[in-house]
Amino acid sequence: MPERLFVCTPSKLGTYADCPRRYRYSYVDRPAPPKGPPWAHNSLGASVHTALRNWYALPPERRRPEALAGLLKGTWVREGYRDDEQERSAYRRALSWLESYVATLDPEVDPLGVERVVAVKTAVLAFNGRADRIDSRPGPAGPELVIVDYKTGRTGLDVDDARGSQALALYAYAAERVFRRPCRRVELHHLPTGTVAGHDHTVESLARQVSRAEETARDIMAAERAVADGGDPDEAFPTTPGPRCGWCDYRRSCPAGAQAPGKEPWAAIERPSDALPGQE
Ligand code: SF4
Repeated sequence: MPERLFVCTPSKLGTYADCPRRYRYSYVDRPAPPKGPPWAHNSLGASVHTALRNWYALPPERRRPEALAGLLKGTWVREGYRDDEQERSAYRRALSWLESYVATLDPEVDPLGVERVVAVKTAVLAFNGRADRIDSRPGPAGPELVIVDYKTGRTGLDVDDARGSQALALYAYAAERVFRRPCRRVELHHLPTGTVAGHDHTVESLARQVSRAEETARDIMAAERAVADGGDPDEAFPTTPGPRCGWCDYRRSCPAGAQAPGKEPWAAIERPSDALPGQE
């Protein structure tokens, strides 16, 4: 019998790579342990992402900066902020990021996909994920696709972040197969600084990222099998304590995380440089 494919999203693979125990709490244990309170930085990221999605849902003639306040208000997520004043200040910040960002966009140009789900199967994976945006841009031999990922979190994103992102590489690999057009370029659009960190993959570098993802999937399946066969779940999914624990939703349920000082839900809003990668 062929082995079943491992059904996954980038965040499922990323969670295991960060901490197998957090993976277990998120995807294996049922009922799952209770999560901590919502994070303000996630609320801010989600609000900005949805506003940009809705920006592209407007007809081109209505894609004007004046539309942004209404879009952002309409989709604003309020959870995690310390108080109204902090929330209002975050709203103003988000609006100014959006105003600067849309000034760089041509309202007449529609991306090929906005929050578009792409899916692909390999020998090991059944991958699916939702790309923030997929652009079609002219290339030397015809249109080429570009994966665009919006970031609202920590500063300092650079080409190494774009090159090293497994999620972006998997989106590119999948988009190329779904749309049957080359998709090698991946870009992180960091709204707070208005910077773009991009990387041009090759067929080989995408293949390397896919095989790394397959290795992670094999490790996860082996751990799940060990538990199904009666093994100790704590051994199959070990903890990897570190600075990340302060931001972990399951810190209170985790013996290693309980030792780590927790962050206030709004900490990354007050001190963006204090935040860890991976936030929206
Ligand atoms: S608290 Fe730390 S060790 Fe525990 S699950 Fe979360 S990230 Fe892993």
